[in-house]
Amino acid sequence: MWAAACAAALLLAAGAYFFRRAVSAPAEPPVRISSGTFSGSLDSLLKDEGLGDAERYRVSSALAKGLNLRRLRPEDPYELTFSTWGALLRLTITKDLQEYTLLPSSGAYSLSVSSVELTASSRIVTGEIKSSLWESMSSSGVPAAVILDYADIFSWSVDFLTEVRDGDKWALAWDYRTDPSGKVVYQKITAAYYHGSESGDKNAAAWGDGYYDEKGDSLRSMFLRAPLHYRRISSFFTARRFHPVLKIFRPHYGIDYAAPTGTPVSAIADGRVTCAGWKGQNGRLIILKHGGGYESTYGHLSRYAKGIRPGARVSQGDVIGYVGASGLASGPHLDFRLKLRGTPLNFLKIKYRASGGIAGKAKAAVAAAIAGLEKP
Ligand SMILES: [Zn+2]
Repeated sequence: MWAAACAAALLLAAGAYFFRRAVSAPAEPPVRISSGTFSGSLDSLLKDEGLGDAERYRVSSALAKGLNLRRLRPEDPYELTFSTWGALLRLTITKDLQEYTLLPSSGAYSLSVSSVELTASSRIVTGEIKSSLWESMSSSGVPAAVILDYADIFSWSVDFLTEVRDGDKWALAWDYRTDPSGKVVYQKITAAYYHGSESGDKNAAAWGDGYYDEKGDSLRSMFLRAPLHYRRISSFFTARRFHPVLKIFRPHYGIDYAAPTGTPVSAIADGRVTCAGWKGQNGRLIILKHGGGYESTYGHLSRYAKGIRPGARVSQGDVIGYVGASGLASGPHLDFRLKLRGTPLNFLKIKYRASGGIAGKAKAAVAAAIAGLEKP
């Protein structure tokens, strides 16, 4: 009895379904869509899709009116719409945030170009360090490019390779934009914070092209905090699946940075090369002369970067050589020293001086952004 009643109910439901299908419009349009990213040329794609010689010529000549077809790259997305009998109804290619659409019009094709609509979003993330900045931030979902930007912002005041301690705290806010496929096409840190047991409290907020602290001082300074620059060496370490945490030693007037052979070494300031050669126990040594009577030296290198020779000009952060154990060295390390008119200085203790600042409304906006950043 129950079974029969259920069967009847099912039949009724099925009848209602067929009835609705019969009277409503077709659920799907009669087209075939082919989409992807370019693996070869546009011509080979259209050939694979079954377009004849004349048709392919019409398509590419219409597209070429607005798009340089030789600049199409494998990451550029396309979408082709065909009728069920194989006619091309629509073609779109997205390139450099522009969308190129081709529609058939009286035996030819017409091209229209429009900007890709971007979605703006922002994120705030905070965290506490347990092993390295990289580990802490990436496990909290901060993209690699944003971690490097963060390290750059503080690269004049914090050495994230040697000064990071467990329990240090960080926070950052960034804006980003995504294209319709969800790909991030733009991102910029708006505010950043670091609390380090070695480095103290550091704040930053964006203004124009630069970053400023709560007092309106620029975060840029004459010297980078360390000659091993976070961004420059991160690709070296990523390739070795190693999170960069380095050790420093102070056996003399300089600082020894223990790092694997081949680690890129950066100029701590703009300057001119006065020596790039073998100097006894220092092995391969680079000496840079900076403004104001300062001189920095980089010893035990395994090799020099391209173009580094006496007289060459270098910019702050440029890679000038690579860590090694040349000369008298028990293992690979960088022997780094800073002198002022021939007198050795304690590089880690030299006074940090901001290069310029902002005032008035700009300073108030920066201070508000810093105060508004949620901190851990
Ligand atoms: Zn040394």
